[in-house]
Amino acid sequence: MKKGGLNLNLNLKLSLPPSDEASFAQFLTQSGTFMDGDLLVNKDGVRIVPQGEEEAPPLIKPTDDQLTLADIDMIKVIGKGNGGVVQLVQHKWTGQFFALKVIQMNIEESTRKQIAQELKINQSSQCPYIVVCYQSFYDNGAVSIILEYMDGGSLADFLKIVKSIPEEYLAAICKQVLKGLLYLHHEKHIIHRDLKPSNLLINHRGEVKITDFGVSAIMASTSGLANSFIGTYNYMSPERIRGSMYSSKSDVWSLGLVLLECATGHFPYSPPDQAQGWANFYELMAQIVDNPPPSAPANDFSPEFCSFISACLQEDPKDRKSAHELLAHPFISMYDDFNIDLAAYFRNAGSPLASF
Ligand code: ATP
Ligand code: MG
Repeated sequence: MKKGGLNLNLNLKLSLPPSDEASFAQFLTQSGTFMDGDLLVNKDGVRIVPQGEEEAPPLIKPTDDQLTLADIDMIKVIGKGNGGVVQLVQHKWTGQFFALKVIQMNIEESTRKQIAQELKINQSSQCPYIVVCYQSFYDNGAVSIILEYMDGGSLADFLKIVKSIPEEYLAAICKQVLKGLLYLHHEKHIIHRDLKPSNLLINHRGEVKITDFGVSAIMASTSGLANSFIGTYNYMSPERIRGSMYSSKSDVWSLGLVLLECATGHFPYSPPDQAQGWANFYELMAQIVDNPPPSAPANDFSPEFCSFISACLQEDPKDRKSAHELLAHPFISMYDDFNIDLAAYFRNAGSPLASF
């Protein structure tokens, strides 16, 4: 719990005669918490608040490092990935919403230590273009991660509704993703390794943030789990598929595929027999490695967009631009004068922005 606060879990039942209800109401906050002087009572118990502390407890910050599962209420399941479940949760005292990701894995002590290390890196990230990780812990065969809640869900969820995203909005989305990548690559020296639409989250403020970096490395290092992460390989660069050395340019390849998918409305590679789908994932891998990289159709998109995609989707990572170079690409600034309002776009397009 928050420092200075004493949290006793008592189950109090208050029943008052009707005449006293009005006077009682003056002690109730909007959330139904009873406050009188230093005493704070809600459905989770009683808390003594030190003198001078404001009514609303200060919001939890990532650096507080003291969130526990006992401090949060589960609200609903908001997503499922290959590794586990993501739930919307609410902090009992501050009312703040978070996303709780629980990944089931039975692992050895040494792997657990490595995971704890990876997640600490995650927690120390302070960048507006990266989903904040507030806390992570290993308990009873599961890794739980408390994340910033992004109320628009992922770009994958959004794409299911809108089918494709017009260039001017893509430029605004891409600018934010590049700033997130710039931070990861140049400041943190981290390769994301699993950039894809479901790992780009959006919110009602029009913000786009990268999530789940480090998590893919954890999965890959956890034997037995790696093979179940087939979806992850779709956006993998040719050099990674070949098992060669790879760098942050590998994320740039993934970004190119994500943008092309958002623009055209379909994943850039398609199976030889559309109706059958991919026979196995080696067939997809072979396509990525053996064919020239996909490109944006010049008839449907601006030259700037086509050139941007080509700058990302170069077979040889040396020919691929870095996140830093791409931020200066003309595509990123060509719609700057259009007053693009991503928040309104996300809202009006009918994204599953949570309402509560
Ligand atoms: P994979 O397991 O292959 O990486 P994934 O990225 O879809 O796939 P998860 O990371 O478990 O799997 O996420 C599942 C879904 O949960 C996402 O698509 C998104 O809709 C939702 N989600 C994840 N994190 C958050 C968050 N911080 N805020 C809001 N929604 C989230
Ligand atoms: Mg994810």
